[in-house]
Order: sequence, then structure tokens, then C-alpha cells
Amino acid sequence: MIIQLEKEIAEKDKENIIKKVRDLKYKITDVRTQKGDYLIGIGKKEFDIRDVGHMPGIADIHIVSDDYKLVSKKWKVKPTVIDLGDGITIEKGGMAIMAGPCSIEGEEQIRKTIDHLRENDVKIMRGGVYKPRSSPYSFRGLGIDGLKVWYKAAREAGIKIITEVMQVSQIEEMYEYVDIYQVGARNTQNFNLLDELGLVDKPVLIKRGISGTIDELLSSAEYVFSAGNENLMLCERGIRTYEKASRNTMDINAISILKEKSHLPVIADPSHGIGIRDHVEPIALACIMAGADGVIYETHEKPEEAYSDGQQTLDFRESARLIHKMRKVFELRESM
Ligand code: PEP
Ligand code: MN
Repeated sequence: MIIQLEKEIAEKDKENIIKKVRDLKYKITDVRTQKGDYLIGIGKKEFDIRDVGHMPGIADIHIVSDDYKLVSKKWKVKPTVIDLGDGITIEKGGMAIMAGPCSIEGEEQIRKTIDHLRENDVKIMRGGVYKPRSSPYSFRGLGIDGLKVWYKAAREAGIKIITEVMQVSQIEEMYEYVDIYQVGARNTQNFNLLDELGLVDKPVLIKRGISGTIDELLSSAEYVFSAGNENLMLCERGIRTYEKASRNTMDINAISILKEKSHLPVIADPSHGIGIRDHVEPIALACIMAGADGVIYETHEKPEEAYSDGQQTLDFRESARLIHKMRKVFELRESM
């Protein structure tokens, strides 16, 4: 059960509501986000919600029986809009493009990527400065210094930044220099990190865990939301299956299902989803047709020289072609 409280609720009214719900043998969690106040009730007993719904101080009440609640569409039918400022939004009915290298490598690469994005009217650049690598001997990113250089160039060009945060201590360190915090597939269930991102007033994109279910992704988003931050996006980036022909198996089903279950924007990552350059384009287009609100993918001037994930990275010519096709497919989808 989700009880949306009125903004200026009197303490006494809140106590009365809590008591009434506890009498129904429901466990109550008080949730305060940057946008609203909610009481989350967990229990089994059936009751007539009108018995509670009429109480002073309640703006709305909803029965949501899933494990995740605040990220569910069952109470919030209106889709969430992520506002990055300067007229840049990520929302249903739009198609956000976030493109850039797997790893930020240096000033020249940053500049060339920004030029490519600007030529193609792309407003959000991706790139990792803290890289989760399977081997400790692989390139692990330029860290905060790299982020600062990137930020300076991106700001001058009017480009927004999405980058991965790997641990709690990095949240504050990165704060000034990021527009969207990315939670990587290896950290989807790092609940301490999710809790702390709930306290931040910047958007968060949460990737699906490598072996994570759709419900687990939604529960991870629930952590951030219930800790205070409603500015969230979900990202399907492929899962590990028995199939060895591709790096991961892009679960296009998940895009359609997440759109049905949640009011949060759903982003597709076809680069990690399939992991093979030549197949990124068709999978990206399929994800758009499946309902994705945006696509995040890897591009680099010379993918064969990229410090990480070159095998799945598009060169700028391929990237420009993809952008063009994505816009066409998006128009087609919206016209149907
Ligand atoms: C990335 O975006 O480069 C990345 C490491 O992604 P994921 O967490 O999905 O593996
Ligand atoms: Mn990568």
C-alpha cells in the first residue's frame, strides 16, 4: 500500500493514519523524497481502502502488492520526466541519445567525441572514469581528474555528462561534474550505494544486473526512490545466459515489460547488450521499437584503439548512421 500524504500534513493527522494502518497489521515505512511524503504499508490483510483513504492528510492511497511500490505504474500513471536543464529532458515520447566512449581516455578523445556529438545534435555524452573491469590489470579509468577535464569541455559545448559511480565515497567527489550518475551492472545490488544515491538531487540511471531479474532491477530502483531520489531511469544492458555467440543477451522483452510495470524512463544499452559492433545498430533499432525512451551506446573515433570495449564500439561514421536511423525508427514508432 502507498499512502501519498498531503504536503502540509499536520503531525497529529500523520500519527492517526499510522495508527490506523498498524491496526490493520501493516508494517509502515515513512518515506520522504525530494518531491513528496509517502507511507508504505506492507501487510497481507484485505481491507477497504476507503476506510483509510478518507482520513485527513491523505492525498491519495493505492494498493500495490508487488515488492517494489514507488517505482510502480500502479500508483503513478504519469511517466517520470528527467530534467537535465537547458531544455534537455529524458521522457516518454522522446528519444534520448547518450553516446560516447566506454572509457574517458584523455583531452583529445574528449574533444573529438564532443565534436562528433555536436555534429549530430546529441546532447548527452557517456564515458567511464571509474571502470569496473573483470581483470585488475585492465585500464581502470582516469578517475576524478579525467572527469574534471571532461566536465570543462562538455560544459563549454553544452553537453551533459553521464558517468558511472562505483562506490559511496565517489558520489560527493563527482557531484559537481556529473549530470547523471550511472550505477553499473556490477553494482545494481550494492544497496549502500543505492541508499546514498537516494540522498542526491541529481538523476540516476540504474543498469540491470548481469544476472539480475527484471523485478530485482525494479527493487534496486525502489531503494533509490525510497531513500529520497525520484529522478531515476532504468537501463536494460543485456544479461548473462547460456548463449556464447554474443557477449550478453539483450533482453528486449525487458524493455516492453519495464515500460508496463514502471513509470520510470527505460533506456537501452545495445553496446553491452550484444557486445559486437556489427550488431549494435539493429539491436538499438529493435529496442526503440520495443518502447525504449532512450539509447546509450559506445562510440570512439578509432574503436580498435579504445582502452576498453573496442569490439562493441562504433566509429563515428557508424555512430552517425545509427543516430540517423534511430531518429527515423522513433518517428515511425510514434506515428503508429
Ligand atoms: C559501461 O557502461 O561501460 C559499463 C561498464 O556498463 P555495465 O555496467 O552495463 O557493464
Ligand atoms: Mn563499456
